[in-house]
Amino acid sequence: MGRVTVNEEYCKGCGLCVYFCPKNILQLSKTRLNAKGYPPAEVIDMEQCTGCVFCARMCPDSALTVEK
Ligand code: SF4
Ligand code: SF4
Repeated sequence: MGRVTVNEEYCKGCGLCVYFCPKNILQLSKTRLNAKGYPPAEVIDMEQCTGCVFCARMCPDSALTVEK
């Protein structure tokens, strides 16, 4: 079980974390943009997060923090 926090203002909506999450529980927001105009990553089902940290390792902008 893990908990992911997205620092939305660092996110550039590249989708790498979405692509690499083995549980497919990340998405780019369909309804919101951050201050830079990008759709930020968001967690759609935190209960399924294993805390594997793949998403945070892939993020080029260090926008994700994973707690186990
Ligand atoms: S820690 Fe792993 S399971 Fe959780 S959101 Fe990130 S990539 Fe997905
Ligand atoms: S990898 Fe980082 S910058 Fe790219 S969408 Fe995910 S959180 Fe945003």
